[in-house]
Amino acid sequence: MKYDYLVVGAGLFGAVFAHEAKAAGKSVLVIDRRSQIGGNVYTEDIEGIHVHKYGAHIFHTNLKHVWDYVNRFATFNRFTNSPVANYHGELYSLPFNMYTFNKMWGVVTPQEAAAKIEEQRKAAGITNPKNLEEQAISLVGTDIYEKLIKGYTEKQWGRPCTELPAFIIKRLPVRLTFDNNYFNALYQGIPVGGYTKMVANMLSGIEVRLDVDYLENKEELDGLANHVIYTGPIDAYFHYDLGPLEYRSVRFETEVLDKPNFQGNAAVNYTDRETPWTRIIEHKWFEFGKDGQGNNLPKTVISREYSSEWKVGDEPYYPVNDEKNGILYKKYKALADREKKVIFGGRLGEYKYYDMDAVIDSALRLAGKRFEN
Ligand code: UDP
Repeated sequence: MKYDYLVVGAGLFGAVFAHEAKAAGKSVLVIDRRSQIGGNVYTEDIEGIHVHKYGAHIFHTNLKHVWDYVNRFATFNRFTNSPVANYHGELYSLPFNMYTFNKMWGVVTPQEAAAKIEEQRKAAGITNPKNLEEQAISLVGTDIYEKLIKGYTEKQWGRPCTELPAFIIKRLPVRLTFDNNYFNALYQGIPVGGYTKMVANMLSGIEVRLDVDYLENKEELDGLANHVIYTGPIDAYFHYDLGPLEYRSVRFETEVLDKPNFQGNAAVNYTDRETPWTRIIEHKWFEFGKDGQGNNLPKTVISREYSSEWKVGDEPYYPVNDEKNGILYKKYKALADREKKVIFGGRLGEYKYYDMDAVIDSALRLAGKRFEN
């Protein structure tokens, strides 16, 4: 065997694990079927702007060890995500906070806002929320559900909110304070120079082969290493033998505009059902502050994001973590546990709606288990 580890996929899980394996003195080969590293955090330089080619990624975490870890590979700016919701031209602050409640109902105090939510929750008769719709109404009431959640969620997931798991909406904070920070996280920022550079730094000194499809050359590639870390889709690994898991895919229409400022914010969510895209990202505001360098760049790059159901051959982005897919995943997981030399990890390998920090934490734990005595 030429290598101790073959890492399949040069995204965050693979890059972090590969880095740790090398640091522990192991020989590592990383492969990826794409022509570039970074997985879905890949950023590409267009007009001096780092464009998030596979969707917006805002690093945020409460895990100090993960924050310290990523800061070894990149300098992070102090970007704070505060998306704006556009509902048929009416603008609202996100996440749901006193600015949102004031605009929606004219309420001024936290007590008035809480009373309004409680009144709408009671009228809807929800005591024990069983799905996303009920969870959303019990958190923020029917008006906000109708204008800011229902349309967006049904576009993003292609399913009625009554058929979606409640946990998805719990990703968003609800606050009775004036705070447009989208994340409840101690640490937040964007790597200066782009995510690709950060991942390249993680992979420094490690052999990486691009444009290599693992599943198409499995036998030969398995023959190169004692252990395999597989970060691709778990169902693809097993040739979809038990049937495909469901994913959502995303399509981006990216445009370079000859103006310095298109929408004045990194993310604007289109929360009505009629607008075909879910959100528009204006990439320059991630890396450059709105007060300085960002305004001085004469051009801007925007991406309209369209959500679609995944089919074999498309890029999978979001696992659909509902009950049906949960049951099927468990069956694939049982098969995966029987694979002696292969470990499955990451959003696709574990079929889990992981954030970046959780993926890194999970790769570090795996490395910790294998390399520490
Ligand atoms: N969501 C919503 N309205 C918004 C933004 C988010 O209803 O304007 C809901 C929607 O169901 C979405 C979920 O919150 O799937 C999680 O949103 P998040 O921004 O965390 O999704 P991601 O950035 O991972 O696509």
